[in-house]
Amino acid sequence: MLHNASQQRLVSHSSSRPLPCRHSLTELWQRYAFANDAGPYLLVPQAVLQPENEVEIQQIFAASQRERVPVTFRAGGTSLSGQSVTDGWLVDIGRYWRNIQPIDGGARVRVQGGAIGGLVNAKLRPFGRKLGPDPSSIGSAMMGGILSNNSSGMCCGVANNAYHTVESIRFILPDGSVWDTALEHEADRFEKEQSGLASELRALRHAVLTNSDLHDKIRRKYLQKNTVGYSLNALVDYERPLDILSHLLIGGEGTLAFISEAVLRTLPDHPEKATALAFFADAHAACGIIPDLIDVQCDAVEFMDRASLESIRNLDGVPDGLSDRLRDHQQLMGLLFEFQAPDADALSDKLERFTSQCAPNMRALSSVQFTQNKKEQANLWKLRKGMYPAVAAVRGRGEAAILEDVTFPLERLGEAIESLQELFAKHQYSNGIIFGHARDGNLHFVISQAMNGQKDIDQYSRFIDEMVDLVVHRFDGALKAEHGTGRNMAPFVETEWGTEAVEIMRRLKRAVDPHGLLNPDVILSSKPTIHLDHIKDLPVVEDVVDKCIECGACEPRCPSRDFTLSPRQRIVLRRARARMIAAGQIELAKQLDRDYEFAGKATCATDGLCALDCPVAINTGDLIKQLRAESKTSVEREVAKSVAKNFGIAEGLASSAIATGAATSFFLGDDLLTSLTSWIAYVLPGFPQWHAGISQDWDPAYRSLLSDAETAEWIYMPTCMSRMFGGTIAPLVQVAGRANAKIHIPSGMQGLCCGQAFASKGFMEPALAKQAEWVDAMWEWSDRGERPVVLDLGSCTTFLKTGMIDLDPVRKERLQRLRILDSVEFAEAMLPHLRIRKISDPIAIHSVCSNQKSGLDGSMLAVANACSDQVIQPHEGRCCGMGGDRGFEIPGLILSAGANVGPNMEQAGCSVGYTNARSCAISLSSSSGKPWHSLMHLLEECTREDD
Ligand SMILES: Cc1cc2nc3c(=O)[nH]c(=O)nc-3n(C[C@H](O)[C@H](O)[C@H](O)COP(=O)(O)OP(=O)(O)OC[C@H]3O[C@@H](n4cnc5c(N)ncnc54)[C@H](O)[C@@H]3O)c2cc1C
Ligand code: SF4
Ligand code: SF4
Repeated sequence: MLHNASQQRLVSHSSSRPLPCRHSLTELWQRYAFANDAGPYLLVPQAVLQPENEVEIQQIFAASQRERVPVTFRAGGTSLSGQSVTDGWLVDIGRYWRNIQPIDGGARVRVQGGAIGGLVNAKLRPFGRKLGPDPSSIGSAMMGGILSNNSSGMCCGVANNAYHTVESIRFILPDGSVWDTALEHEADRFEKEQSGLASELRALRHAVLTNSDLHDKIRRKYLQKNTVGYSLNALVDYERPLDILSHLLIGGEGTLAFISEAVLRTLPDHPEKATALAFFADAHAACGIIPDLIDVQCDAVEFMDRASLESIRNLDGVPDGLSDRLRDHQQLMGLLFEFQAPDADALSDKLERFTSQCAPNMRALSSVQFTQNKKEQANLWKLRKGMYPAVAAVRGRGEAAILEDVTFPLERLGEAIESLQELFAKHQYSNGIIFGHARDGNLHFVISQAMNGQKDIDQYSRFIDEMVDLVVHRFDGALKAEHGTGRNMAPFVETEWGTEAVEIMRRLKRAVDPHGLLNPDVILSSKPTIHLDHIKDLPVVEDVVDKCIECGACEPRCPSRDFTLSPRQRIVLRRARARMIAAGQIELAKQLDRDYEFAGKATCATDGLCALDCPVAINTGDLIKQLRAESKTSVEREVAKSVAKNFGIAEGLASSAIATGAATSFFLGDDLLTSLTSWIAYVLPGFPQWHAGISQDWDPAYRSLLSDAETAEWIYMPTCMSRMFGGTIAPLVQVAGRANAKIHIPSGMQGLCCGQAFASKGFMEPALAKQAEWVDAMWEWSDRGERPVVLDLGSCTTFLKTGMIDLDPVRKERLQRLRILDSVEFAEAMLPHLRIRKISDPIAIHSVCSNQKSGLDGSMLAVANACSDQVIQPHEGRCCGMGGDRGFEIPGLILSAGANVGPNMEQAGCSVGYTNARSCAISLSSSSGKPWHSLMHLLEECTREDD
């Protein structure tokens, strides 16, 4: 059954009844935005509830029982088996459950379910520790999902997964009772207050212990990774009912309880690594060496079949000779493996053992070369992680990339790989690829599949049936190793585990959730074809986003994700709209269009940070720019052209307005001025609204700081933002003076603009005209590219370094020859020539989006570290929400994006921040309530001569 059924159901649902949660999203666009996770299913929730605390979870459970509405929890929504979608209430815990608290010097960590795994590791890094579970989605997956899916990855194996590293859990049962296994006497209280459930858990344990076949099967199966069905090993490993239940929640996929908080033991994060990529003539040669690698304690061993190597052959950084090997070896296989150690000596011990015990047995095509170069290592892992996206990127338009996750006995891995390849050929999945965690016998395979009708679903169904048969009956493997059962493998749990085991699972579910309201049809389902229901098609929408696999990797950095939509949701809604139109639901599509104007278009900062984490490099900001451009009326275009033409006058007026504002703020105060400018902006959309930060660094006096044009070595071109809002010009010139750098600010720059301000609003024609004008002026002022040009707004620097596609060839060539530097690069270049006195207080820095995109983070940090020993980055790699000037129009965007900045600064005892874009400094001052200045201010302060 395709997605349309859930759409029909959506129309008939009433959202008028009161919902059991203060923050409830019930609008059409909000429900559709949350209808997809990273898996192949689509279900539109009746409402999205965003509880803030345990009381609200209890209220949700009570209302769900009362009204018999199913409840599904959603953390990062990166699941691949359909376990975080629902047509009941979707409870989004990614919004308010983000606490992370390292304890005992990082040996343990307390986390809430909405904490992103990557941020947990970032907080553990200063202690040299990391989480055990290491899914490759850790940058966007959250702890609630990592625990509930019992996720794992390349290094953690079975020993360090969530099941084995969790120390205590706090959880809420569907009856509303709250339990915390860290508390003394809690197990006794559980026995007393949950006597019925406790005795059923004992009975289930007894049933397993007295059934030797089942007992042995459980022991055997959990030697390898397995996430099919419930974690039955809990019934064998633990005796007390509370311990059993709390471990059943790991891998329980939100079908038993809500996990409110957990404490996990952490692992050392070894700094020393040696990595190698070896090639083999076939699967047997590659797999034959895996046991030896395990014996010499290799920390990660990744397998790549010929098709996966093919998929990355054209990516940057591919090792030399891959193409030749692909040509010469039809069954080529690769093994990427890594040794890790706490110090150099320990690493060389490991490598010696490899050389003496393992290398002689290795039938690789050439001798193994290790690299300890961090950049090369990162590149090799990037290639490995790029396999799923690489296939996703070459799939046909509208096709889904389906990622499966199976385990085979290690000793039969080579044979299993060949059998899977035969299955691909039989079912005509010509671009199916196989890769995975060879050490664990865990293979992932990706196929691309159209889902445009019954014929496609039948093809997929036949393939899945045969794949299940192959894994279970021929190899006695596991149907899911890491990704959870979901609805994808629910019909096959019995095939793998047998009737008795599944009856134990059913009894467990009935005892904990008698009405079956927690994530129904996930893990267990009475419907034999549930894996084929609600499969989503991927309609073709706009070219720039059609490759999206809905994985969610782009969400954490997006400044608008807590305010309106994330990048993934912006794309998901375009696809929802296309489906509505195809289904003749024109009124619904129109409604969605109306909502998208603000939620999708107006509140995107178009900073493009989403592209940094996207495995297929999608910049959702480009989609938004395109949509904005398409919706411009001819009158708006004419006005934009005229503003571009008279930009110098507009700039002069704005400068005066701001100067007046700075003076007015002195008399009226910031609050009154903010209200006043908000009112003007209501009448004149686009009019910059006043922010407390504007008056801090406003300094119109830069003109008195000009240097000599003839002898200057550097041309400094203050951007229009600086010219209007001040903040950077004076300190930059002062620092340049102290470093004896001869710098010149040309006169006649009023009205010059790189074009970005127009392009971001979708006015491409005036943007192009402004860029052309800028290039002409700069070509002359820089002596035809002889003198470097310094800019002071990162986004303008990046926009110019990239250049507009439609710029004419002559100017394009000139632009390439111009040596354009951002102020942060200039500041770094000045460091050796300056006498710097470090300040003793902690300082905050924010690396603007363009720094992150063009790799200038390091320069920013170098300057900050030169000025203070205590540098914090309170914004956690996100955009501040200003997006050039978007934040002026929509202040809510910067307040939402910067909500954590003030508290994080507070926690670090930090009272001031620095960044390298004036507009971002204004935005961060507004959202944090603390002063933010240009990075040049910091450098100027630290290089002042003693009075
Ligand atoms: C590109 C890509 C690569 C991946 N690589 C890996 C990998 O290497 N290893 C791996 O194991 N997985 C991998 N996955 C799958 C997925 O990312 C992980 O399983 C991840 O841990 C899911 O986390 P999440 O926060 O997205 O959870 P969600 O998808 O939001 O939820 C997962 C499950 O947990 C439940 N849940 C969430 N929070 C709670 C809570 N507080 N209480 C109770 N139940 C809750 C949900 O109802 C759902 O059933 C990958 C996915 C993608 C898209
Ligand atoms: S461009 Fe920025 S605001 Fe827009 S979707 Fe991407 S990350 Fe979010
Ligand atoms: S835009 Fe990229 S990162 Fe975001 S969901 Fe789509 S594929 Fe994933």
